[in-house]
Amino acid sequence: MDDFLKSIPHKFSAEETKLLKRAFELSRQAHTGQKRKSGENYFTHPMGAAIILGQIFPDATTLAATLLHDVSEDTKITLEDIKKDFGAEISRLVDGVTKLGHVRLKKGSDGAYLENLRKLFIATGEDVRVIMIKLADRLHNMRTIEFLPEDKGKKVATETLEIYAPIAGRLGIGSWKDELEDLSFKIVLPKDYEQTKTLLDQELLRRDENIKAMVKNLRHIFHTEGAKYLDIKGRVKRLYSLYNKLKKYDGDISKIYDIIAVRIIAKSTADCYSILGVIHSHFQPVPGRIKDFIATPKPNGYQSLHTTVFDQSGNVIEIQIRTDLMHEEAERGIAAHWFYAEAGKPENGEALRAPWLQELQAWQADEPGDAKEHLENLKIDFFRDRIFIFTPQGDIKDLPVGASVIDFAFAVHSDLGYHMMGAKINGRIAKLTAELKKGDVVEIIKSKKEVKLSRDWLEAAKTGNARNKIRHYLNEHDKSIIQRVKELKLKDFTLPRFFRKK
Ligand code: MN
Repeated sequence: MDDFLKSIPHKFSAEETKLLKRAFELSRQAHTGQKRKSGENYFTHPMGAAIILGQIFPDATTLAATLLHDVSEDTKITLEDIKKDFGAEISRLVDGVTKLGHVRLKKGSDGAYLENLRKLFIATGEDVRVIMIKLADRLHNMRTIEFLPEDKGKKVATETLEIYAPIAGRLGIGSWKDELEDLSFKIVLPKDYEQTKTLLDQELLRRDENIKAMVKNLRHIFHTEGAKYLDIKGRVKRLYSLYNKLKKYDGDISKIYDIIAVRIIAKSTADCYSILGVIHSHFQPVPGRIKDFIATPKPNGYQSLHTTVFDQSGNVIEIQIRTDLMHEEAERGIAAHWFYAEAGKPENGEALRAPWLQELQAWQADEPGDAKEHLENLKIDFFRDRIFIFTPQGDIKDLPVGASVIDFAFAVHSDLGYHMMGAKINGRIAKLTAELKKGDVVEIIKSKKEVKLSRDWLEAAKTGNARNKIRHYLNEHDKSIIQRVKELKLKDFTLPRFFRKK
């Protein structure tokens, strides 16, 4: 227990320590006699998951639930027992994780898989902490995956790559997303993994001197110019993200500028911008590659300044500048936000909800409809890259890449979608089906009456939200046409035949 507490970088209150001790002891005793595939005591797993979670989210309640997350399912202790001993909040978290645990990819049964995925989303909709526990649980399992039989390991790794790593990314927990991806990449695509690793190793060897020289050079420049910074070092791109980027550029590694980047940590936002200025006054920036994610953070909250410059030898190097707090948030995402922003902290027993989970719940509450169709839409929304679109009032809408004016209108308000008759992109008249680009300002021209939605819109709409609404409208509309045709047929054909028979 002492080692466990020491491994978590946080000072718990006496009361919190007591709670953690009780959960620790109950779990340890309940799992006594159970072994993991590695031969270790089973308790090493819930403890390992709690240690992982404790690094980014040292919240005693959530950690107690993590320690207990497999108890109700695998031991004699029931959920009721947990509720009695630890209260409703912890038992609800454990219950949520247990529900997630039941979601399995059923082989050869597409419908079952989709239905399961649906359940997963419903279960996670309750509280983001449930997902954080599940992700810590999955990360610990992935770190020890070599003990699983090959086919089982592949299944777990595929699920991790397709579902859990993107969720970690969506929550902004970069450190977990990276590790989940690279651990499962190695198992799901072993050949590609080795190939990418060889390429990266070669590149590191080739660029090592170059990067070291750049770091030394920058230190010298910052010193003479009096630019304030906390840390400066090289950072290497993760294998899975390099693999995906290579696919995009047909395997041409020379087109990828950020394989090795220089990362500068500063104390304040103002320091970040002045460092950027100093860098640009010494090194020629590559046009079009300056990205200000401080002024406009990514949808998952990521903030940084990115620039790419030519060094003295003409090599291209990406430089990332951020404050220590931004760095912390990039690694810990929603966990950092919640833990440090007291205002956002839920009251006793209240669930922690991310905005996109609220949308998901609202969607779930809609008519059930065709589960498969809905899920496909949802999967696209969920895993695709996002772009920012502005309303004329300066509000930001977060949409998937490829989204059109139609998606934007329905994202602002469904009523706007049903009344749109025209649009302006950056002040110029545009088609409703026009594809939007990052940073576009879109104004929708509204009609007083409800307009007739066209079937073409379905093709131009990329978000599940817009597609569902258009499809719903078209279905309603089609139904009445079919109804009318049926009535006509009755009159024109059935009746005469009826007479003929007579
Ligand atoms: Mn577990």
